[in-house]
Amino acid sequence: MFSMMISGSVHGVDGRAIAVEVDIASGLPQVNIVGLPDPAVRESIDRVRAALRNCGFVFPLERVTINLAPADLRKEGTAFDLAIAAGILAASGQLPGELFAGMLLIGELALDGAVRPVPGVLAMVEQARRAGIGRVMLPAGNVAEAALIGGMERFALTHLDELGAPGRPRDWAPLRRAADLACAGVPGEANATAPPREGGEAGGCGDYGDVIGQPIAKRALLIAAAGRHNILLSGPPGTGKTMLVRRLPGILPDLTEQEALEVTKIYSAAGQLPAGVSSLIRERPFRSPHHTISTGGLIGGGTIPKPGEVTLAHRGVLFLDELPEFSRQALEVLRQPLEDRFVTIARARAVFRFPSSFMLAASMNPCPCGYWGHDSVTDDRSCHCTSVQIARYRAKLSGPLLDRIDMQIEVPRPASYDMPNGEMTTAMMREKVAAARERQEARRRMTGIDWNGDLSGAALRRTARLSKDSSLLLREAFDTMGISLRAHDRVLKLARTIADVEERDTIDPEHIAEAIQYRKLDLQS
Ligand SMILES: [Zn+2]
Repeated sequence: MFSMMISGSVHGVDGRAIAVEVDIASGLPQVNIVGLPDPAVRESIDRVRAALRNCGFVFPLERVTINLAPADLRKEGTAFDLAIAAGILAASGQLPGELFAGMLLIGELALDGAVRPVPGVLAMVEQARRAGIGRVMLPAGNVAEAALIGGMERFALTHLDELGAPGRPRDWAPLRRAADLACAGVPGEANATAPPREGGEAGGCGDYGDVIGQPIAKRALLIAAAGRHNILLSGPPGTGKTMLVRRLPGILPDLTEQEALEVTKIYSAAGQLPAGVSSLIRERPFRSPHHTISTGGLIGGGTIPKPGEVTLAHRGVLFLDELPEFSRQALEVLRQPLEDRFVTIARARAVFRFPSSFMLAASMNPCPCGYWGHDSVTDDRSCHCTSVQIARYRAKLSGPLLDRIDMQIEVPRPASYDMPNGEMTTAMMREKVAAARERQEARRRMTGIDWNGDLSGAALRRTARLSKDSSLLLREAFDTMGISLRAHDRVLKLARTIADVEERDTIDPEHIAEAIQYRKLDLQS
């Protein structure tokens, strides 16, 4: 007898429907599984066999063939267990196949028949919903996550024996009630989920109002956040570069509904959603991988690739502390996401595409020891690096990478008389960012571009709107400082954002002058 069940898998960060076909024919007892399964999928047979037996069902002693379609898609993981078990029960006549008609089946089985949660449920359920599937049976531990996609009838399974016994299917209404009960608080916007940080670090990033001094750096970070410009902070150790950047998520605008779904799907696919998640992730992600990270960890890796840090930072901030300490290959692979806003990873049979639209914030010391150019009378620490060492250190940042960083600022040591000032708190900065964001929103119809940081060419020139004095000033700076055409465009983009922060339609000379200040490295070289 033959049966077909619907299951799902995750490709990149998107769900794919997988048909699980089971055929049982007379012959010597034998099980074949085809359709590009990885070892975990092959082992599924052993789990399903034990689980069925331990729940009072029979594993057929005949020729069992299991096909996972489409055949050209590599299948991995343990999420097909439930669909394979259901397929065998239906094909062997132990339960009526109609029970599972039009139902997405996801779940890993333990040997005793317990049903365990799996990663990527959100993406699978979302895809199924779009394909018109209206019912899903899944592990109780994944129900809340599945409930983030509305309009589905959900059945929560904790144990395989809840399906019934051979020839005697149980009433599944309690499974549906259990699911509804588990997601009673959903969508629970009150307890919005925060994206997990790397290393299990807790969220909460502090307030800019507590930062001592650094008015210029704070202003620069405000502008970077307002136009989503990539930013590089340079300065000696102990000036609080890291602390300044870590406060960035607090001033970024809220995720839109669509963005929240995108981000939550990514964390679901990466298996990093907190257990019992009851709402979409509402905070912008902040990722700060250590400089020893591999290129695979950064852009995604594995035989079936999982999201890397550039994807986990999607719609948020990727912070690279001590930028020149990262390997040359790691810095090199950053170019594609910075340019295209996605990464592609090629494998033998498929190309995977991951979204990676993030704001890059980076920090560096001015030289290997960190004290170059910051010798002071009151401080006996001074730089002993040779000019060759300094040149080699800076040369690690390639031109093409620096080209993608709109703002480069110096963060000096705070003076001893600096005090925390309440003039720029996170709440006030956030308000300014939101206002600048609205002005960009309004222009999007004209440009098709979300953030000033992504403006270029014709779109940039259309939106720049320079006053006459500004044009003159820009031309003059262009001539006297010998800045390149690329740097010219970057100054223009930044000036657009500064004008937006000041709620001005036209770019005034002071906006141009401030923007030039943020191009430290162009002026030095
Ligand atoms: Zn030094």
